[in-house]
Amino acid sequence: MIVFDLLCAAGHRFEGWFGSTKDFASQKERHLLACPTCGSAKVKRVPSATRANLGAVEPKPAQAPKAAPEAPAKTPDMEGKDPFAIAQMLYSRMLDDLLTKTEDVGKDFPAEARRIYYKESPERAIRGQATQQEHDDLVDEGVPVARLPLPSGRLN
Ligand SMILES: [Zn+2]
Repeated sequence: MIVFDLLCAAGHRFEGWFGSTKDFASQKERHLLACPTCGSAKVKRVPSATRANLGAVEPKPAQAPKAAPEAPAKTPDMEGKDPFAIAQMLYSRMLDDLLTKTEDVGKDFPAEARRIYYKESPERAIRGQATQQEHDDLVDEGVPVARLPLPSGRLN
């Protein structure tokens, strides 16, 4: 076991325990290293007093650096924004993606969803409107549908 002092891009200093220098290099290369304080994967090794864990002294538990979470990728324009603003941006992007990849069938949605489910229509992603009752009926039949709150103005 060796301990490296690590420094993230935001200036947080933390320790990483590794099996070997190679282990450190490999984890860094695969972006598995992340700052435990801010989650930044921009981590570099900084000079420190060399310590080798020889096993006997300090039975400190090995503290592996946390792997970077697999959350939706944040982009630079989200840096420093509050979590709610970031969530809204991510949601807005998801909606854009959804709106460009789905076919708008409007009020025909319940019927078309059913036809696709029963393979009477070509399989594809569709969107449209359904009443609460129509939605519940589809769910009861096992037709996979999802409801999304769309901000007004986002539907053509
Ligand atoms: Zn940090």
